[in-house]
Amino acid sequence: MNTYNRFPLTLVRGKGCWVWDQSGKQYLDAVAGIATCTLGHSDPAMRRALKQQLSRLQHVSNLYRIPEQEALARWIVDHSCGHSVFFCNSGAEANEAAIKLARKHGHRRRGIERPVILSAAASFHGRTLAAVTATGQPKYHSGFEPVVEGFDYFPFNEADAFEALLNRHESQGPAVAAVLIEPLQGEGGVNPGDPSFFQRLRSLCSERNILLILDEVQVGMGRSGMRWGYEQLGIEPDAFTLAKGLGGGHAIGALVVQDHADVFEPGDHASTFGGNPFACRAGLTVAQEIDRRNLMRNVQKRGDQLREGLEKLVEAFPGQFQCVRGWGLLQGVVMQPDCNITAPQLAAAALNDRLLLVAAGPTVLRMVPPLSISAREIRQLLRRLEATCRTTFQI
Ligand SMILES: *Cc1c(COP(=O)(O)O)cnc(C)c1O
Repeated sequence: MNTYNRFPLTLVRGKGCWVWDQSGKQYLDAVAGIATCTLGHSDPAMRRALKQQLSRLQHVSNLYRIPEQEALARWIVDHSCGHSVFFCNSGAEANEAAIKLARKHGHRRRGIERPVILSAAASFHGRTLAAVTATGQPKYHSGFEPVVEGFDYFPFNEADAFEALLNRHESQGPAVAAVLIEPLQGEGGVNPGDPSFFQRLRSLCSERNILLILDEVQVGMGRSGMRWGYEQLGIEPDAFTLAKGLGGGHAIGALVVQDHADVFEPGDHASTFGGNPFACRAGLTVAQEIDRRNLMRNVQKRGDQLREGLEKLVEAFPGQFQCVRGWGLLQGVVMQPDCNITAPQLAAAALNDRLLLVAAGPTVLRMVPPLSISAREIRQLLRRLEATCRTTFQI
């Protein structure tokens, strides 16, 4: 169907941070499947593990115990504040699970008849009906009304506005089941959370037994330079969702909950493909390689290097660029509001310099390369981007 604005490019092969098109042209990939190809393309450990898994067992359904699923859940629980994990196949689906969990918590633990979930303006939580309703951007709702009831929105990083909205909903007693929020808004323009805002959010939610659920779909699994985005903010959520980077390019999503938020019972929620042996083996391999290769350290070092280079670029093009923001290997270059080139146009122009980039909205150019990217590849990325800027801005 005609649902995508695609680049005029057909990619047929990849290795590490590099991909090749049909005619053999080589591109440096700073998109990485939109922050999914954590270990890059065709990673040897991933190839070995998945070949072995394909020859052993691919799918059996959740009618049975699945050792690969249990091992991946164990790794997530051992490395986070979570106590149990539900597996599904995408970010939107993980957020749907979180929304159902929140509503059940609202009914059972707070005695709310019609529970409300609060989320942030300019957020992104996925495209299914409830996830798109949680998404605080009218352009994603337009044409699909009526949206799901029981959602309301507050401005990101604004504690007083959040508290006012919360008090408005709760003026007659308990009404809010949960807050669903990204630690850093990815699609909404690479906008990092403010620790003091999140700490206030945490204490307001704790006071009233409202679940604080973090959407870690883009930021989790190490992209920020810490394993989870919430670690950047000095808080622990009651639950968080994962997807993009978890499977290293394979379809998997997860809802991770702390013990006290675990209200699901058998029959409450399910997924036919969720947590299948193949997807979980992919996730487990990503997890093990992050540990074995100390990729967290690489994200911190390469993230700093990328950040410094981008800041120089912003200084070199002050008429076009405003600032750089982000965490680790999730960086955004914010364009000037009066720049006559949009971020999607700049990303398209970078194809001529054999560089893959993706916009995050009309004014932010986003970089989300594989977490395994080298110092030399970061230098190549910066050189190519500078060349694109020089030709596009005609300076
Ligand atoms: C991409 C994204 C989603 C949606 O994930 P899908 O796998 O496309 O459903 C949800 N939340 C955030 C923060 C995302 O970046």
